[in-house]
Amino acid sequence: MNHSGNRHWRRGLLALLLSMLAGHSWASHAWGTYHWARTANPFALQVGNNMTADWTTHLQLSVQDWNNPIGFGASSTPLKVMLVAGRSSKRTCSMVAGTTQVCNGKYGFNGWLGLASINISGGSHITQGTAKMNDSYFNLQSYNTPNEKRHVVCQEVAHTFGLDHQSVDGGSLNTCMDYFSNTGANAGSTLSTTPNAHDFEQLTLIYTHLDTVTTLAAGAGSASAADIDIGDDPRSWGVLVRQSANGRSSVYERENRNGSKTVTHVYWTQEAAQRCRSCDHRFETHDAQP
Ligand SMILES: [Zn+2]
Ligand SMILES: [Zn+2]
Repeated sequence: MNHSGNRHWRRGLLALLLSMLAGHSWASHAWGTYHWARTANPFALQVGNNMTADWTTHLQLSVQDWNNPIGFGASSTPLKVMLVAGRSSKRTCSMVAGTTQVCNGKYGFNGWLGLASINISGGSHITQGTAKMNDSYFNLQSYNTPNEKRHVVCQEVAHTFGLDHQSVDGGSLNTCMDYFSNTGANAGSTLSTTPNAHDFEQLTLIYTHLDTVTTLAAGAGSASAADIDIGDDPRSWGVLVRQSANGRSSVYERENRNGSKTVTHVYWTQEAAQRCRSCDHRFETHDAQP
């Protein structure tokens, strides 16, 4: 090996080690090592708005929050959300390559309030994502509060950035990435409706390294292969890989025929979680009026 080849190899190894540190060891609430591949920071992620007017208000506020980092030293954030016209439909919320599509609809009394899915290629690169809010529940008096809606949409969209929860026990860390419930006696509370400083620290860690390729859409993005999508049938989510002790948060994974993986975060209703905390809620009967 000549001298320059050796140096090149060493530099490659160093970059690999740094990216591993950024992706694994330092991260405390990254969603695995999942991140959008991109060649420069900051970068713009297109978030397609397929939501109705009321939800659009909550989505717009959450996008503003994610674009305005807070906390000590947080003067910038690597991920800039670019809210664009939706390219999917509320009902199917099909994935569009290189983008996140956000939708709301009456998806039925199936036990979930919110669902976030990301498609992964090469083990860690997010290629497309969707976030869905279930109006079957959000139209009910108990969940139909601006704060609860803001909390859930803020969280589901951010799962497609590669963020996981900071807490799932129901307490508030004053981040939308927790499971505080802005319902009942807390319906008027604005706690946990926005990101906190730690979320921005985490994003900075996830996106410290640069990639040699990009998974972001160059233009408007193109419809992805149909078999990547998560359908109405919850069996299409794949296998349950983890669930919180209180039963409110689950992660499912599915291997796709093209070698990619689809990972889905499920935000269960309080009622679905309480009925049987350790059950796979997909296979339970959910009441129309919890
Ligand atoms: Zn990368
Ligand atoms: Zn979640």
